[in-house]
Amino acid sequence: MSEFDLIKRYFTRSTPNVILGVGDDAALLRIADGMELAVSTDMLVGGTHFFPDTDPYLLGHKTLAVNLSDLAAMGAVPRWATLALSLPNANEDWLQQFSAGFFALAEEHGVDLVGGDTTRGPLNLCVTIMGEVPAGKALRRSGAKAGDDIWVSGTLGLAALGLAHLQKTIKLHEDARLPCLAALHQPQPRVALGVALRDIAHSAIDISDGLLADLGHILESSGVGAELQFAAIPKVKAHDIDESTLRHCVLAGGDDYELCFTAPAARSGEIEALALRLQLPLTRIGSVNAGKDCTVRTAEGGVLKIKESGYDHFE
Ligand code: ADP
Ligand code: MG
Repeated sequence: MSEFDLIKRYFTRSTPNVILGVGDDAALLRIADGMELAVSTDMLVGGTHFFPDTDPYLLGHKTLAVNLSDLAAMGAVPRWATLALSLPNANEDWLQQFSAGFFALAEEHGVDLVGGDTTRGPLNLCVTIMGEVPAGKALRRSGAKAGDDIWVSGTLGLAALGLAHLQKTIKLHEDARLPCLAALHQPQPRVALGVALRDIAHSAIDISDGLLADLGHILESSGVGAELQFAAIPKVKAHDIDESTLRHCVLAGGDDYELCFTAPAARSGEIEALALRLQLPLTRIGSVNAGKDCTVRTAEGGVLKIKESGYDHFE
């Protein structure tokens, strides 16, 4: 199969929302009046971000999902994507499954694949996602204000627990295993939440590197500090997992792709109503203050000591 057959067979679908899609030297897109273009790129590298033998359908989903998550965090509506693939070989079963997983999620979100690049090389999957957001309305990391509540969507630490289970450093009981592996392999980008938060939240980020690392970006960009209540953070009930592993996965585990956002306390009723409308748990886990650091309090009122990108130990 030639490179062009491969592109035609697996990566060329109708693109109703563009002037010109796959097949020329560039795609042509038209942005609606009054909208800004939001652009983000995320790359998944075999052996680094995923096991090379990962189910290709799930990998197709995740390759797009992690990109949709970045636009969700901006409050943008995803519209178009390009896909740069480096493949060790043209395995047709793999390509069939990968593209099916990719397009299933693309269709769910009305995203057109409008171009890309295909080369032979180590397995590497790179998407550039483009979307629209009303001018001036994008959610940024820099908008958090002292006094804001800090919220997260969903449950944190699931993907990291799932990964630890696959790496056999822990053994998850069946009840916890299913949601943890689903979170790791099939993250659900919180696009509708991001859009709904445009006029509510002061700042937002998606949790790809762990809560403390990503909230840390908001705090640094905004020039503020925070206090979190560890007990308030939504986490899986895994009775057989030791406290320190759970704590590590919840605070520093990556790959959850939930949103963390800050909003004025006066908006909490609207946020609770939003959780009901979206059928997505939204949980207040702490508050922004005028300090510099992020403090995590235990239920007993103690402080968890935190290093730069994760927690260290109990104090
Ligand atoms: P060029 O040589 O001009 O860069 P290519 O031969 O790389 O063009 O690609 C031909 C067309 O196929 C282009 O429109 C490009 O955007 C598209 N394309 C290449 N690889 C992919 C892919 N993996 N997914 C979607 N479109 C692709
Ligand atoms: Mg090219």
